[in-house]
Amino acid sequence: MPKFTEIQQQIAERISPDTLISHWRDWRWQARHRIRDIDTFEKLLGIQFGDEERQTLEKTIEKFPLSITPYYLSLIDRSDFRNDPVYKQAFPSPAELNVSRADMADPLHEDADAPAPGLTHRYPDRVLFHVSNVCSMYCRHCTRKRKVGDVDSIPDREQIAAGIEYIRNTPAVRDVLLSGGDPFLLDDAQLDWILSELTAIEHVEILRIGTRTPVVLPYRITDDLVTMLKKHQPLWINTHFNHPREITAASRAALAKLADAGFPLGNQSVLLAGVNDCPRIMKRLVHKLVANRVRPYYLYQCDLSEGLSHFRTPVGKGLEIVESLIGHTTGFAVPTYVIDAPGGGGKIPVMPNYVLSWATDRVVLRNYEGVITAYQEPDSYPAIDCDRNCAECTLTLKTEDAPEQDPVGITKLLDSYDETIALVPEGTERLGRRNGESD
Ligand SMILES: *Cc1c(COP(=O)(O)O)cnc(C)c1O
Repeated sequence: MPKFTEIQQQIAERISPDTLISHWRDWRWQARHRIRDIDTFEKLLGIQFGDEERQTLEKTIEKFPLSITPYYLSLIDRSDFRNDPVYKQAFPSPAELNVSRADMADPLHEDADAPAPGLTHRYPDRVLFHVSNVCSMYCRHCTRKRKVGDVDSIPDREQIAAGIEYIRNTPAVRDVLLSGGDPFLLDDAQLDWILSELTAIEHVEILRIGTRTPVVLPYRITDDLVTMLKKHQPLWINTHFNHPREITAASRAALAKLADAGFPLGNQSVLLAGVNDCPRIMKRLVHKLVANRVRPYYLYQCDLSEGLSHFRTPVGKGLEIVESLIGHTTGFAVPTYVIDAPGGGGKIPVMPNYVLSWATDRVVLRNYEGVITAYQEPDSYPAIDCDRNCAECTLTLKTEDAPEQDPVGITKLLDSYDETIALVPEGTERLGRRNGESD
């Protein structure tokens, strides 16, 4: 029989003297008792802010609302809460009101790249589908802060049906990523409906769900949910742990249920100043993740969304962390560090340099220890000069299994069949002169 920890017991009693452990472990009870105001926060944790600080905090949550599950609240170390990584992710900072020069409401142009409301089609073969605007905890670093708590942007059934219709009519989409909000805040029946509609579409090969419930509401991962999800394979699940302290007995149990059911699990962290901008913390985090069968997938540079400037680190911090991981630890424990390009360019991977120099027959490389080495390239290589005539190619791919796609971007320049010799941005002055335009 599970028991309360000491702090959980205190919080539970302060919420209501009759709270049982079975209530606490019921995700609907947790969702119903979310902390939405500063008074309750103070009361439950037994701390108090000064008058002046309270006023700015009130102003902050007017703009960016507050919501914390009692479970996530119980992870805060009250003796040093101002430095606590859980506190910093959950509780507002007046710094959120500082709008910096670079801030934007929708830096990733998710709404601009939407062919149907709530559906972003940015890459050739996959879409991001916002099926929920609801979260149990409002992450202070949310990249979609513009939508947090905004009841007007909650997708209704009609809107979701329109998104499904777009996917059905777009054969290029083979991968659908459900996001939000948190898709696991939908009830089982509604999620079941969406997943059933999507798996029935022949060209949809895989589904993915991005959820933070294993971190902030682990009791959401119920046996019923898992049984329902299992009907919709192949389904990949990505979660969002940012700090090793978030991996608790309850979150481990949630992850184990998902892994035992056969879902490949990944994790997307955001690099956050004052939370996890430290190579030792990140190494501890990725070790704990792989020990729980979760593969670190991405480490995000913090976006340029409004109200996040105090969370941003220089890109060099991310590179320092990646440098401290590659080679130093398990290869599959190393996430890909990415910057999501402002303006909708998508995720751009960023890595330290490992190629130091190059001659026609040699590549000079360095490893994680600083060893510099030369790789001798082959004396002869029967280069395949591709003319796209796969039927006569000596590589025996059954082409009917691999639909042809036209090269995109840099792959145009690498493709011997494509005649593109340069990719040139639009509207440069040089091109203006060439076309005889003045000014
Ligand atoms: C991140 C993202 C995806 C998925 O990208 P992967 O690199 O395949 O994980 C798809 N669409 C949008 C708009 C995204 O932001």
